[in-house]
Amino acid sequence: MVEDIIVDLVGNFADGKTTLVKALTNESALRHSEEKKRGITIRLGYAHFKLFKCNSCGKFSRFERCEFCGGSTELFRRVSIIDSPGHRMLMTTMLSGIGLADGAIMVISAINPCPQPQTEEHMEAINLLGIKNLVVAQTKVDLAGESKAKENYNQIRAFLEKNGFSNTNIIPTFANQNINIQEIIQEIGKFDISNRDVSGKPKMQVIRSFDVNKPGTRIEDLKGGVLGGGLVSGRLSVGDEVVLTPNVSAGSKFKSIRTKIMYIQSEFGEEKSATRGLSIGVLTKLDPSIVRRDALVGSLITDADNLPILDNKLRMTYDPIPGKTIFDKPLQKGESILINVLSSRAIGIIQDISKGGISLVLGEVSIPFFTGDKVIVSRKVKNAWTLAGSGIIL
Ligand code: ZN
Repeated sequence: MVEDIIVDLVGNFADGKTTLVKALTNESALRHSEEKKRGITIRLGYAHFKLFKCNSCGKFSRFERCEFCGGSTELFRRVSIIDSPGHRMLMTTMLSGIGLADGAIMVISAINPCPQPQTEEHMEAINLLGIKNLVVAQTKVDLAGESKAKENYNQIRAFLEKNGFSNTNIIPTFANQNINIQEIIQEIGKFDISNRDVSGKPKMQVIRSFDVNKPGTRIEDLKGGVLGGGLVSGRLSVGDEVVLTPNVSAGSKFKSIRTKIMYIQSEFGEEKSATRGLSIGVLTKLDPSIVRRDALVGSLITDADNLPILDNKLRMTYDPIPGKTIFDKPLQKGESILINVLSSRAIGIIQDISKGGISLVLGEVSIPFFTGDKVIVSRKVKNAWTLAGSGIIL
């Protein structure tokens, strides 16, 4: 069976992410023509390609005829690449997207000493989210020169070992010349996604929401609201009756809403159904006026018999990132922290700290969550939200 996989591209922008994606996908990165055909733009996606497996030599290839031996192949995986912003301020935004990723490509330039602060923080995020599949593309090897590139390689090796990735391969790349890109493709083909929950209850996190109707559209031609994002577990199919539970701030009138899935589109085209590993846009029967301008970001789509809790209070366990010394003191009662739960973000004030966990009040915002969901915690350091730890909702 063909598998879908979302791979997050992390690293400094200047380290050559765009060039690498171009080489990987054989197309200009960023936007694709297919999206425009239906007018349903999936802004989560960055680039995508198909991965074929050779029937003769077993290697992975981006073409139907094997790149290595010329043998016949079968479609093995559909790969969507999502991008994490290279700016520190956007770090907490990045977390909503990479919660959907099953693996990551970490881009590290051979020119600078490793780790740079951004690389370090991306590694923390990967570990907090429990991503195990990782490959490092050491870029600009040609510009660094042999001895500098070697020294940098050893720094990366030490950095990976320190962070629990001693088996991760480092692939030196000269992206402009396409050298070693095939090795990165082999790594993506080998990413282990066997532990995904495909048969469980459907849970889709919404990362984008938008109205696809042009002003002046006749009423009979109006399309419902489109929700973009991906499944955490289970499967959604066209025709499914589902419930959307939004982020709710005080004064907002709606809570959970029943709706129907009318159409599903991925970067690869029209889909009858979707599971984890595909970034999708879902056309619903929702009133398009309530989805405008990402108004429903942070919502969850589930079955009617599996509704999330919608509350502005929660209790969670808390584990700080080991060895992170940037914070002068442990979490305090009364401290404001930023939490990411699935695609929701909210600021919570710590009401109570005990051995078993911490209790938070989110003020005027209620977020949808399930007991057992992962929470990523950021704390303020010199006015910037900084990754601090994670926990599980009790
Ligand atoms: Zn082959």
